[in-house]
Amino acid sequence: MTIEREIFSALIAQNAFQGEKPSVQSFAQLAVDKGFRALSSRQQAVVNPFLKKQCEGIKEPNKKHNNCQNSIGGRDLIAALEKSESYKGWRCESCRSAS
Ligand SMILES: [Zn+2]
Repeated sequence: MTIEREIFSALIAQNAFQGEKPSVQSFAQLAVDKGFRALSSRQQAVVNPFLKKQCEGIKEPNKKHNNCQNSIGGRDLIAALEKSESYKGWRCESCRSAS
């Protein structure tokens, strides 16, 4: 299984496309079923942003939000999916170890 298929399959399992246009989920499903390469370039462009997720950063009591600019992708994204309770609140490795 390619990394894209693993990610989209994990995203679908997490209901990460809730609130997105229905076409987003169907393209992601297509990527899982047929492979990411089976999507047209226009379809790939729709779901491509989901292959990376901006870190939510951490906000400790009495401190400012750390404004983390890291993004999570590839294996880290799958690991984040497995560890995180929901799609929201994903954090990069450094934020996870800091909190
Ligand atoms: Zn972070």
